[in-house]
Amino acid sequence: EKNLPDSTTQMVCGFCGTGCNLNIHLKEGEGICVSPTTEYPVNLGMACPKGWEALSVLQSPNRAISPLVKKSPNHWEPVDWDTALSLFTRKFKGIQQQHGADSVAFLSTGQMVTEEMAFLGALAKFGMGMKHGDGNTRQCMASAVTAYKQSFGFDSPPFTYQDLEESDVLVFVGANPCIAHPIMWERVMRNPHSPEIITVDPRKTETAMQSSLHLQIYPKSDLPLFYGIARILIEQGAIDEKYIQEHTEGFQEFADYVTAYPLERVIAETGLSQAMIEKFADLIKSGKRVSFWWTMGVNQSYQGVRTAQALINLALMTGNIGRPGTGANSITGQCNAMGSRLFSNTTNLLGGHDFLNAEHRDKVARVLSIPTEQIPDQNSWPYHKIIEGILAGKIKGLWVICTNPAHSWINQGQVRDILDRLDFLVVQDMYHDTETAKFADLILPAAGWGEKEGTFINAERRIGRVKRVKRAPGQALSDFSIFKLIAQYWGCGEMFSNWKSPEDVFQLMKQLSKGQPCDFSGVEDYTAIDEQGGIQWPFPDTETQPPAPQRRLFEDGIYPHENGRARFIFSEPSKMPEPPSDQYPFILLTGRGTASQWHTQTRTRNSDVLRKLYPERIYVEINPQDARAQSIQPNDWIMIESQRGHLKARAFITQSVQPGQLFIPMHYEETNQLTDAVFDPHSSQPSYKCCAVKVSTN
Ligand code: SF4
Repeated sequence: EKNLPDSTTQMVCGFCGTGCNLNIHLKEGEGICVSPTTEYPVNLGMACPKGWEALSVLQSPNRAISPLVKKSPNHWEPVDWDTALSLFTRKFKGIQQQHGADSVAFLSTGQMVTEEMAFLGALAKFGMGMKHGDGNTRQCMASAVTAYKQSFGFDSPPFTYQDLEESDVLVFVGANPCIAHPIMWERVMRNPHSPEIITVDPRKTETAMQSSLHLQIYPKSDLPLFYGIARILIEQGAIDEKYIQEHTEGFQEFADYVTAYPLERVIAETGLSQAMIEKFADLIKSGKRVSFWWTMGVNQSYQGVRTAQALINLALMTGNIGRPGTGANSITGQCNAMGSRLFSNTTNLLGGHDFLNAEHRDKVARVLSIPTEQIPDQNSWPYHKIIEGILAGKIKGLWVICTNPAHSWINQGQVRDILDRLDFLVVQDMYHDTETAKFADLILPAAGWGEKEGTFINAERRIGRVKRVKRAPGQALSDFSIFKLIAQYWGCGEMFSNWKSPEDVFQLMKQLSKGQPCDFSGVEDYTAIDEQGGIQWPFPDTETQPPAPQRRLFEDGIYPHENGRARFIFSEPSKMPEPPSDQYPFILLTGRGTASQWHTQTRTRNSDVLRKLYPERIYVEINPQDARAQSIQPNDWIMIESQRGHLKARAFITQSVQPGQLFIPMHYEETNQLTDAVFDPHSSQPSYKCCAVKVSTN
C-alpha cells in the first residue's frame, strides 16, 4: 500500500509526434507510474514502450543536477546559478562586442514545450540581438514544411488520425510507422475497410512486411516513380478534373511535364516491374479514399521537397484531399516538431509569420509590446550555414538547447572538430553526458518532460498539455525559468516582465496565431485543453461550437495561398550526389531501428527496460548474397567505410535490404561518421538516407 498512487493526472507523452496521452499516477504529488489514457482521441488506450517508460528516464545518475563549468579538458566543476549565468552573459556579450551581435547563435529542438520555444526565440533574437538560430527540426521536418508552404501557402499537414481508419488505400512512402509511429499503425490495423496498404521503400521494413504491396524501389527513385504514376493516371483519365479546375493551379504544366515519364523510364530508374507499377496506379485509381503518408525517407533527401510535392500533386489531381480518409500527410517525428515549426522563431517569425514581411513584424511587435526594430528583417541561417559560419570563424559562441549535434548532425566529424573551435559553447540539457556536452564550456542543468508545464502540438495539429509531475533533480530548472533568468542577467528582463508563467506565454501565442491558418485564439486556457482532450488548430475565437474531436484541413477546398488555390509544383529529379562506385560499391541507408529507442538515445538509454529491448552494440543489415560474396557470417564484426569515416558493426544478414545496400540504425553514436553532408536546395534539410560505402572484414 505504501507504493500505491493516491491520485492521477493526464498529459501527453514527450517522445514522438503522435502525442499519445498518458495517465500519470501520483503519490503525494509525485508521478510514480504511467498508463495510457483510454478516452483521449489520439491513442485510444495504447502506448508504445517509450511512453510506458516515460518516468523512468527521469531518474538517472546522468542527470545534470547543477551548472558545470569546464576547468580543463574533460574536467568540469559545479557552480551555482549566479556564477553560471554571470559567466554566460560575460562570455556571450564579450564575443558580440568584439565580433558583432550575429557572432553568437543558437541551436534548439523539437522537444521543448511550445511556450519555451517561443521564449527562447524571442529572448535570443529580440532580447540578445542574435540573428542566427535553428532547430533540430531542420533535420526531420524542413522538407515537409517547405513543400506545404509552396504548395498550399502555409505549413499545413491536413490530416487527422481518424483518416488512418477511414482510407481504403493507404500509401506509406519512406515511412515505417509500424515501429516509428506504432500507435498510428494500430489505427491502420483497426481500419474496418480492409484497406490496401502500399509501402514505397528500398528496405523491407516492418511496415512493408505487413503491406499488400511493397514497392522496393532503388534508393531515391521515388520522385520518378510518382511522376510516372501521375502520367498513367492522367492518360487513363483517372483524375478529378472538377477539383483540379476549382481548387488548384499549374496542372496543365505538370501534366505536360510528366509525359517525360513513360513506363520504360520508370522501370529503368526504380527497378520495379511493369506489373508492380501498373498495380500501384490501379490501386490509386480504384480507391475511393486514398491517403498518402510520408516521413523521413522523403524529407531527409537531397530532393525531399519535390518528392513531398509529388505526393501532394497525386492527392490534388485525384481529389484525395479534404475528405475523410484522404490527404497528403507528413507525419512529424518529435513530440513538438509542430510547435517548433510555428513558434521557434527560427525560419518562421513567431506564429508562422515571415521575418521578411513588414506587416508581420509590426503585428508581432504589437502583440509583444516591443519596438518593431527589435525584430530582424532577415531570415536566420539554416543549421548547416551556422555550422559553416563556425568553420569560417564568423560564429564564435554557440548555445545548444536540448539537442545533440555531436551525435545527430549529418557531418558528425566536422561538427566535433568545430565545436572545439568555438570561443564559448553552452549546452543546456537534462543530461550532462551527451556527446555534445563533452565539448561544452558551460553546462546548464534543465528539467525534462514531466518536470515542467506547457503544451506540445502533435502531428495532426493537436495542442496537448504537459505538466509538472516530478521535482527536477538538484538545481535543475525548467528551460522556461532558465530563459527568464538569462533575460534578467542579460539586461532585457523588462521585455519579458509579463512572461511570468508558461500559461502567460500561451495567451501571447494565441494572439500571435490570430488571423493565421494556425489560429488557435479560441482555445481559452490550459483547462480547456485538458477538458477537450487536446484541441487541433485551427480553432479561432470566432468558432461558436466546441472544438470537434477530429478535424481535417481543406474540407472547403480553399488553400492559404492568396488566390485560395493549391499549386502543382515539380522539377527534374537531381542525380544521386554520391552514387556507388568501384571503390565504394554499396549504398548505405539509415533510419529508425526500433520502437524502443529515441533518436540519439539521450533519454532512452537511461531506461533499463528500453535498453534491453534493443541491441546495445551497433549492427549493420546486409543481404545474404553480399555476405556470401565476402564470407561474412552472422554477428561478424565488419568494417563499413565511406569517404568521411569508418565504423565497425556486427553483421545482421537479412533479406530486408537489397543486394548492394546496407542499413544502419541512426540511434548509434557512430552512424553519422559515414553520412554525406548534402542538403535539399529548397529546405536545407540534410540527406541522411543514402551515401556510398564499402565493406571489409578486417
Ligand atoms: Fe509516446 Fe510516441 Fe510512443 Fe505514443 S507512440 S507513447 S507519443 S513515443
